[in-house]
Amino acid sequence: MKKNWIQYSYLFTILFFVLGFFNIVFAWIGFFCLILPFVFVIKDNKKTWCQSYCPRSNLFNRLFAVIGNKRTAPKWLLNGKGKRIMLTYFAINFFMICLTTLMVFLDKRDPLEKVRFLMAFQLPWTMPNLLDIGAMPDWVVHLGFRVYSMMLTTTIIGLLVGYLYRARTWCAICPMGTLSSLALRKTDAKLKVFH
Ligand code: SF4
Repeated sequence: MKKNWIQYSYLFTILFFVLGFFNIVFAWIGFFCLILPFVFVIKDNKKTWCQSYCPRSNLFNRLFAVIGNKRTAPKWLLNGKGKRIMLTYFAINFFMICLTTLMVFLDKRDPLEKVRFLMAFQLPWTMPNLLDIGAMPDWVVHLGFRVYSMMLTTTIIGLLVGYLYRARTWCAICPMGTLSSLALRKTDAKLKVFH
């Protein structure tokens, strides 16, 4: 039963982006993808999320089983440089998300109700907001747009490298994968101290 739904976890990725068209507040679901890898590291002392559940890697596996070049990625992408670039991007993006959300919360700036690629490039469409779920505080809407933008950016990059190279090339540079590896190393080190 468990195996059955894991096969279809890629649907969560698609659902996430579709739900954003209904109401951007659904993008808050993206926080699960930020938190769950660490929950599993703490619970199982291994990267269960990456190995079994991650909807995004499941999408890449599925999609690039039928299309894509299936070539080995260049060394710079796999040898740590790619990881550092993506981790730096993620840290800056996360910091900016927190800062701007705080500014909106404090009424010091207007919410940015646009989807952006790589923080700077505005995408040429407006989210249609097909489902009215009532008035939401500006900072909640702002955060929804920012999380949606971050998830979209990383998914587009993942799709690009997955198409150009092997299906899960993104996993070699994914900030969540990198950070959960670091968390795992810390957990291991702690366990060694206690034994
Ligand atoms: S490295 Fe990132 S994309 Fe790959 S399985 Fe882990 S969380 Fe998912």
